[in-house]
This record gives sequence, structure tokens and C-alpha cells, in this order.
Amino acid sequence: MLSNSLIELDRAHLVHPVASWRGHEKTGARMLVSAKGATVTDAQGHQLLDGFAGLWCVNAGYGHESVIEAATKQLRELPYATGYFSLGSEPAARLAARLAEHAPGDLNHVYFTLGGSDAVDSTVRFARYYWHSRGMAQRDQFISVANGYHGSSTVGAGLTALPVFHAGFGMPLDWQHKISSHYAYRNPVGTDPQAIIDASVAELRAKIEEIGPDRVAAFYIEPIQGSGGVIVPPKGWVSAMHAVCKEHDILFVADEVITGFGRTGPVFASIEEGIVPDMMTTAKGLTSGYVPMGAVFLSDGVYNTIADGAGAAAVGHGYTYSAHPVSAAVGLAVLDLYEGGLFDNGVRMGQRLMAGLQSLQDHPLVGDVRGRGMLAAIEMVVDKDKKTPLPAAAAPAVRVFDRAWDNGLVVRAFAQGVIGYAPPLCCTEAEIDAIVERTRLSLDQTL
Ligand code: PLP
Repeated sequence: MLSNSLIELDRAHLVHPVASWRGHEKTGARMLVSAKGATVTDAQGHQLLDGFAGLWCVNAGYGHESVIEAATKQLRELPYATGYFSLGSEPAARLAARLAEHAPGDLNHVYFTLGGSDAVDSTVRFARYYWHSRGMAQRDQFISVANGYHGSSTVGAGLTALPVFHAGFGMPLDWQHKISSHYAYRNPVGTDPQAIIDASVAELRAKIEEIGPDRVAAFYIEPIQGSGGVIVPPKGWVSAMHAVCKEHDILFVADEVITGFGRTGPVFASIEEGIVPDMMTTAKGLTSGYVPMGAVFLSDGVYNTIADGAGAAAVGHGYTYSAHPVSAAVGLAVLDLYEGGLFDNGVRMGQRLMAGLQSLQDHPLVGDVRGRGMLAAIEMVVDKDKKTPLPAAAAPAVRVFDRAWDNGLVVRAFAQGVIGYAPPLCCTEAEIDAIVERTRLSLDQTL
């Protein structure tokens, strides 16, 4: 029986991703009804600063008329054109070309998907096609990093290293391997950046030897681990891992689904790391979350090898909504906003956000503050010297999330008492300061 209340409809019929289904039945959803700039409004008319840009995706902020107009115009003119076979549409071609200009090095070929999970999934298939084309089909083993998140497709969830995505599913698959995270705050080798890099290099080399160097297809990283709790590697970690892969001719895949589109400062984090991945996955900020879209960037080498291997035959991989013209039109309009000042504003606001969150280090609950640009986290502890985590049963991050919501701020609650931030790049100085002030108040109320 349907209830008149929206919350009841949601409770009864809508299955929420990555939620406790039974828990959700009890609590119901917090419904949002409108948004503008960096502010969202809930069903009770309560206004909140969105310190997490939806799900770290609304990089441009909400309600831009130019994006709405671009989508509307495209819906009127041509709401759908397949990207299959050799068919196409103008916005998709233009967006691919403009993205290639922004991408590092020779990542000149763009394959559009519907989001991040299928972008990751596509790279697994492309890697297999690539090695098959080079006559090395036995290279079918994949390595990723503990605490990493690479989506929840049937294959990508195995590259993801968060246990909640594995339990009851037989993940990871037997061709998916992991090395330890670089997590500096809680690393058995200590906090020294070079020691962490050396340990990761040694572990990756050992893992490659264990699997067999001629068996490894690809290695996956996030330039900053997102869903694992915003874990920032020491400077030089990404390039050191890239170098190990190049020694062994292993494909290096940078998953920039979160870090892309100005989230950490540069358009893509790989640029700041000084590396050119063989493949790069993106989504989220690509369309600023207004409509779904993801993209895989392929290097000239990967693209040409797959193309030559297939020859006159089709490369058998595709989605009905690949290169969707409405999503592409939105992508172009969003890119105009980024290039027109939002990337620069994001860099300035990112410095302010990091400085503001650093000022919370004096709070008794704050053990670690980390991040880069508009991507950050604080990790709460009960004892700063011993780094003792707050008891998981007390759900400390969820308590801060609840307090913050009441104080007019949306944050992200991670496991292990970690609070995440990824505000829209359009934030003003006053909004960044309010994020920090409301966090302090919420922490005080959680003590
Ligand atoms: N890869 C990374 C690094 C992500 O953070 C995410 C989502 O948060 C994904 C892949 C999956 O993207 P989507 O949720 O769009 O499928």
C-alpha cells in the first residue's frame, strides 16, 4: 500500500546504493528538493552548504543556466544518436576533442561511458584486447591498491579494495591482486614519505615477481584514494609506481573519476604527478553530475595497438548510451564554465579549504587533516598520540554528519571516523569559511 508521504514511497520502493537496506527502512531518506550554487535545500526548506558536491561530482556547482540551456537545446535538436558503429553526433565529437586537449601527454582518444564503474570496466576489457593484439594474451592479471575504490561493476568491484563491496560475492576474482595502501597516517613503515614510497615500490615489484612479470596486464591507482577515506600519497609515490610499471611494460591506469576536472587543483591530478597513464578513467566532474557520463582516455599506443589488432573487425565493446549527445552537450557547457574561471577559483578555494581545515588540528577529536585542493578529510581519534580510533560502534563520523546537517552543512561520513570534503569549485571565500566553522561546531557537539 503506497503512503502519501514521499519518505514512505522512498522507504517502500527505492533501493538505495551502498546503504543498510534494513537501516534505511527505519530512518528513511533525507530528501533534497532544489539547489543553487553550493547550496542545497531539503524537503523541510532547510538550506545547507554542500561540502561534498553531491557525491564529489557537482564540481561546477548547481543551477548554471548555461548548462540547463545546452541540455534543453540538445534535447530539442537531437535527444539521442548512437555512438555505435560509425554513427555519431556533433557534441560528442567536440567534447572528445576538447577533452583530449586537456588530457596529459598522448591520451588523445576518448571512449565515453555512462559513469565511473563502466569506465573502469572498459579499461579491463581494453587491457585484455591490448595484450591480445600484442600476442601476449597470457597477460591477464590485474593489480590494484588496498583502500582503493574503482566502482562496483561485477569486475570493478574486485579491483575495489573495500571489504563491504566483496562480502558474499567471492571478490576479488582470482586474477585480481592487491598491494598495501600508502596511508601515511597509519602505515606500518611510519610516516616518512620516502620510506612509504620505497615500501610500495618493493611491494609492487615483489607482487609482479610473484604473479610473473609476463602475466601482469595492468596496475590501477587513484592519484588520491577517495572512498577509502581521502588518502593522499606522498609526493613522488604515483610517479614511482608508474616507473615500476614501465620497467615491466605493464599498463598503468589512473582512475581519476574523483580527482579529474579540477578537484585537486590541476585539470587532472596525473598532470601534477608528471606522468602520462596508458589509460585514464573519469566521470563525475565531466558533466558536473548534471547528467550521467564517464570517459576512458586511451593513449596513442593503447588505441593504435587495439585498432591494429582488430583490423577490419569491430572492437566488441559498447554501450547504447556511449557518447550520449545530451550528456556531451552538458559536458561542453560545463567545460566552458571550468575554463571560464571555475578551475582557477577551485585552486584558490582549495588553498583556503586546506588552511581552514588545518586550523581544526587543535580540536581534541582531530587526529589527521589531509587533502589537496578541493578534496580533503579529517580523521577523528580519541587519543592523538596513540592515534586511537573512536569506537566504530559509536559511529562517530555519522554523528558528525548528523550534527553538520543540522548546522547547515553536508559532509561525507566514512568508516573509521573520517569526515570527507569535496565542495563545488564555485564556492566563495565566505562559503569555505562557513564549511570550516560549521565543522568545528559539529565536532564540539560530538565531543
Ligand atoms: N572510480 C573511482 C575512483 C570512484 O571514486 C568511483 C565512484 O565514486 C568510481 C570509480 C565509480 O564511479 P560511478 O559511481 O560513477 O560508477
